[in-house]
Formats: sequence, structure tokens, C-alpha cells
Amino acid sequence: MICLRCGGKSKENYCNGCFTRIVEKRVKKAIRESGLLEKGLVLVASDEFVEGLLRKIINLPVTITSIAQKGKNVLPCIGSTIDDQSVAFLEEYIGDRKEKNVDERKAEKLKKRELNLFSCLSDAEVVRYFTLSGKKFIPKEHPLKKHLDVLIKKYPEVQYALHNATNEYDHLLEKGI
Ligand SMILES: [Zn+2]
Repeated sequence: MICLRCGGKSKENYCNGCFTRIVEKRVKKAIRESGLLEKGLVLVASDEFVEGLLRKIINLPVTITSIAQKGKNVLPCIGSTIDDQSVAFLEEYIGDRKEKNVDERKAEKLKKRELNLFSCLSDAEVVRYFTLSGKKFIPKEHPLKKHLDVLIKKYPEVQYALHNATNEYDHLLEKGI
């Protein structure tokens, strides 16, 4: 197989070097699009993977730590993959959770000011990325993920359709619709 990016030899769509660059580019884009990052912030990483990635990617003068703290200049940073977001979305819609009203959802969303580094990465992509640097990332388990995996193997476009639906839903919430 040939790498789709550089034409070099590869066992997968992208060789290891190109894959790493693509992942880091997507993380940078997620950070940029969040509009949350500014100098002087204290970035509190939810785990060692998020912390490592922050240290590798961010050039601004910020403090990066994994020790929980509070304060106006604290920005929590998490790693919630496309798979995590999709199951959360499905759970909210098809699960038997009590319907929340729009105001309640909007307030929740606004209160949750956090930077998600993995917003445009799947479980499999995050696993491969960290494996390449010798770390073992274990995706969050969720009963719906098994069903979703079966579905995505058969219809790969479902993953992106769900991701788009999740984003669209968040967008509507932001607009207060
Ligand atoms: Zn390549």
C-alpha cells in the first residue's frame, strides 16, 4: 500500500510520519476553532495523554498541568473522541434520560467551558497516534460503542454523519434554537 499523502510505503492509508502530522494538525485546528486559548491561562489536562499533547503542540506562554484547580484563568482540557461524542449524543437521544428543556441544555453547555483536543479524532486514530510514541491509550468504554463499531464497519460514513449531527446539534444550542 502507498501513503495517500507522501506516496511512500505504508501499511495503512497514511504512513506513520504523515499520520502523526495529520493528527497534530487536526488538534491544532480544534484548539483554534474553540477560540478558548489565550496566553496566561492555566491549562488543566484531564489525563497524561491530553497533557502530553498540550505540551507538544502549544507554543503560547501558558501553564500546563494535570493538577485540578479553580480560578478565572483556568481552562480544563479534555480528550473526548468522535466515538465518545457520538455515544453521548445517541444516549441523549435514544436513551431513556429525562428530556431537558432547551434553556437547561444551553446553560449546561455554556457552563462547560473546556477545550476538547480530540474533538476531530476517532478512538482508533488516538490509539494509533499514541502507540507511535510508545504510549498505550485505552479508549473510554461504553456499551453503545460495540454496536456503533459493527455499524461503522459496515457503513463507514455513519461515523462522520453522526459527528456532523453532534456538531450541528451543539451549533443549534449555541444559537438558542
Ligand atoms: Zn506519508
